[in-house]
Amino acid sequence: MQHITEQLLSLHERMEAAKKNSPIAQENVTIVAASKTQSTEHIIAAIDAGVTCFGENKVQEAAEKWPAIKAQYPKIELQLIGPLQTNKARQAVASFDTIATLDRLKLADILAQEMQQQEKRPACFIQVNTGEEPQKGGVLPQDADEFITYCRETAALPIVGLMCIPPANQPAAVHFAYLKKLADTHGLTRLSMGMSSDFEAAIRLGATEIRIGTALFGQRNIYLQ
Ligand SMILES: *Cc1c(COP(=O)(O)O)cnc(C)c1O
Repeated sequence: MQHITEQLLSLHERMEAAKKNSPIAQENVTIVAASKTQSTEHIIAAIDAGVTCFGENKVQEAAEKWPAIKAQYPKIELQLIGPLQTNKARQAVASFDTIATLDRLKLADILAQEMQQQEKRPACFIQVNTGEEPQKGGVLPQDADEFITYCRETAALPIVGLMCIPPANQPAAVHFAYLKKLADTHGLTRLSMGMSSDFEAAIRLGATEIRIGTALFGQRNIYLQ
């Protein structure tokens, strides 16, 4: 699995280049390795290559793969980067260090309740549906201010930042710039934005976490995703 080491090296070079000449690029940008469909063997190869943070899309898939990996590598951070159904909130609070896809009131309330019961408080990002796409998760931009305030003040959740997945057929930079501005308005310091195809633009616009799948692991098996 030499290719993971090489891909990581090349990613780091491209990340450094993207930081140059951008006054708002962050010095510390974390790669969240999007490990959906990847085997435990590939995940461990990525850990050995130096990756410290992973993102899974499905609560169930994470529950199958990650307990064994966490037992061996307890310091690795695991993020939920896919949509969360309320009936999986309990398991998500138990299994993840970070939940990156908080996007609606009912979910905020249930997460708050679960965190209290489990005495465990995974950091949360609020996902914003910047492109207002019906098939995508995320709070709509016009509801974002109110929802962010609700999550922080009423639900008292540990909100650390914002996350978005821009529409595939549009320049992503507009969406990243919007998310950055919204985060600044609310004094939120972390921004999860950018994937294999657009992480350089995301870094230039202030991303603190980029979610990288194919540029690290190679093409996914489309029959498994
Ligand atoms: C799979 C996935 C990624 C990574 O996508 P690549 O294009 O393979 O880098 C990022 N974010 C989310 C939410 C994903 O599901």
